[in-house]
Amino acid sequence: MYVKLTGRVLVNLHDLNNEASIGTFTDIRKMKIIDREGALREVVSVSGNMLKHWHSIYVKRLLEGNDSFCSYCGREEAWRLPQDDDRLKEIKEKEIKEKELKRDDLFIEGEKKLLTTCAIEDIHGFLSPDPDINIKRESRVRFSWFVPVEETGEEAIATAVHNRVAKITGEKKEIKQQKEIKQQMFFYKQYASGVYSVTASIDLGRISTSDYKSKNGKPIIVEGLKDETVKRRRKCAIEALIPMMGGEMGASLSRSLPITKPIEIMIAISDYPGLPNFVSAFYKDYRQANLALMNSVAEVSKNDVHLIVVPPVEEIKNTSEHLRLYDENDVFSAIRLALELITKG
Ligand SMILES: [Zn+2]
Repeated sequence: MYVKLTGRVLVNLHDLNNEASIGTFTDIRKMKIIDREGALREVVSVSGNMLKHWHSIYVKRLLEGNDSFCSYCGREEAWRLPQDDDRLKEIKEKEIKEKELKRDDLFIEGEKKLLTTCAIEDIHGFLSPDPDINIKRESRVRFSWFVPVEETGEEAIATAVHNRVAKITGEKKEIKQQKEIKQQMFFYKQYASGVYSVTASIDLGRISTSDYKSKNGKPIIVEGLKDETVKRRRKCAIEALIPMMGGEMGASLSRSLPITKPIEIMIAISDYPGLPNFVSAFYKDYRQANLALMNSVAEVSKNDVHLIVVPPVEEIKNTSEHLRLYDENDVFSAIRLALELITKG
């Protein structure tokens, strides 16, 4: 089962992706985009990598107590297979000792070891730097950059001055007074507001499946993973979107938890492996474009495509009998419905 989504969120006063600091000034991240008239624009942006990192954190929190994690993912650190990870070393030692594993076996054993010991490696992928078992796994979860929608005019960015105060203790009063000024450190941060868009792809059907072993040309569930573990991982990969919609998905959260309101979403669910990504909600006409897109995909593939749309759409013409359209009134109901459809299978 494959899940695609695109949506729009109103986000006020955020600093979700810092660029760099110059002295006491921290710049908000900006990237260059081309609008449909071909004009170059610089816009406040949050990277897909940042969103992916926060998604992995929520998946871990949702699965905690019912699944396994490596030491890094267990601490919510974004390292997939660092140099000092000893899980693959164990397999190599076995190979050296028993001289029984061929290269393909090493890859399969390595994958099995990583997927059974860490749910995040399974869902978010990895790249092994080990020269003998240089296996890799594409992430099953992918996010676009988070950028203001194309109708946005001049961007709302403002700089705020913050004051960090450090108390000096255990010194004479006179020295304390001299240092009074230094106890206060001013620093400057930028905050942005706007309607932002994001697109994501979550390959649920490929979570817990092998990249190195197949049956009748199709990947199979990695040995050692129980059915309920696989189902739970797939469900949590979608459920993790709910807390992210509340704005906890980037930097500077303690000082500026974003003031968010998710406003629009489209979610497509299908068993069809060729299910395409949506036309991004960045574009103002994305809803009509995506209705036409998913209608065509359903008709061409003859696979059922479940399409959840918020806000509801007007009647569309020539709908494929394989397109199942669901109107929902809010984004969270749409995600809940997606979870129901996925659980039903
Ligand atoms: Zn891990």
